[in-house]
Amino acid sequence: MSVDDLDRRFARALHGRTRAVATNEPLTAPIVATSVYQLPGDPSGPYQYGRWSNPTWSALEAALSELEEAQAIVLPSGMAAVAAVYYALLQRGARVLLPANGYYATRALAERFLAPFGVQVATMPTTALAQADLTAFDLVWIETPSNPGLALVDIAAVAERAHRHRARVVVDNTTMTPLGQQPLALGADVVVYSDTKTINGHADVLLGHVATRDPAVAERIRQWRMLAGAIPGPFEAWLVLRGLETLEVRFERMCANAALLAERLATHPRVQSVLYPGLAAHPQYELACRQMRRFGSLIGLTFADAATADAFIAGCHFVRTSTSFGSVHTAAERRARWGDTVAPGFVRLSVGCEPPEALWQDLQDSLARL
Ligand SMILES: *Cc1c(COP(=O)(O)O)cnc(C)c1O
Repeated sequence: MSVDDLDRRFARALHGRTRAVATNEPLTAPIVATSVYQLPGDPSGPYQYGRWSNPTWSALEAALSELEEAQAIVLPSGMAAVAAVYYALLQRGARVLLPANGYYATRALAERFLAPFGVQVATMPTTALAQADLTAFDLVWIETPSNPGLALVDIAAVAERAHRHRARVVVDNTTMTPLGQQPLALGADVVVYSDTKTINGHADVLLGHVATRDPAVAERIRQWRMLAGAIPGPFEAWLVLRGLETLEVRFERMCANAALLAERLATHPRVQSVLYPGLAAHPQYELACRQMRRFGSLIGLTFADAATADAFIAGCHFVRTSTSFGSVHTAAERRARWGDTVAPGFVRLSVGCEPPEALWQDLQDSLARL
């Protein structure tokens, strides 16, 4: 897949309705707030009941489908998307391999709710996947870069080995978005996203989606949504569709800002170490260049201790002290506060869309006061 091809697909996602609507119809996709549709006689057509389908979901799914050349199914949160994949694809006796250093709730859901139903759940650090014997697993889950440790693994290599014995490969691509990395093109079977993060990008809604090129898997996920009732509200879907329209410009700015800050922070005496896949010093820089189209908006910073990390965050005016990431607003948090296995002074910086020099000046001023 060439860069131009993805650019063209993003433009198509933006213009989904441009030629499709009739004269005098709204060009902006409407928020369709309804539980019922006109349905006389024998049921027919795509819209029969609100739990099964909704035109606002369809508009968002059409745009997301363009970005990955796959079928996209929207769900009410990133975890609802993770749960949909689990319940659609796993049965009693299935063996699942999850990243030990990936998103916490993905592991907790499997351990607390799948294991009691007879699914075998194993975990492994992201980088260990590259060498691991995968023959014992039916489903291999990848997060690259992992969050918050920013460790990478070669998606194509893992998919190739997993497919030799028919295991499925799922990639949680939340940190990268379809514009930063294309797991399905690299051989993954399913990709999941928390659209709550960069895809919506404004920290004002929760949503998620699953994308796959396997029609049978897409159908299972749709059935799960319909029967479990894990459905997004039309207003939330509309907000994400609106957010998606600026994804390309936002993500470009976020990644450019992150690259600039990572480079400058790496030489600052108050910062012990900087992790960013786009820095040549990242242990997997070569893989990052090969696999990722952009290096992302997350930076790992290590300070001397927790107190110094907290003082740095508190001293910034243009950095939100929230959890989560991917918003137009820069945010930072000390990850040990959640029990992540990182140094006490480790901070995850989610770089936003602020004008770069104003943002750098703010960070620099806070560092100077440490
Ligand atoms: C946030 C996140 C999720 C969960 O998404 P929600 O929208 O909060 O349910 C899953 N995976 C990753 C990598 C995330 O960052």
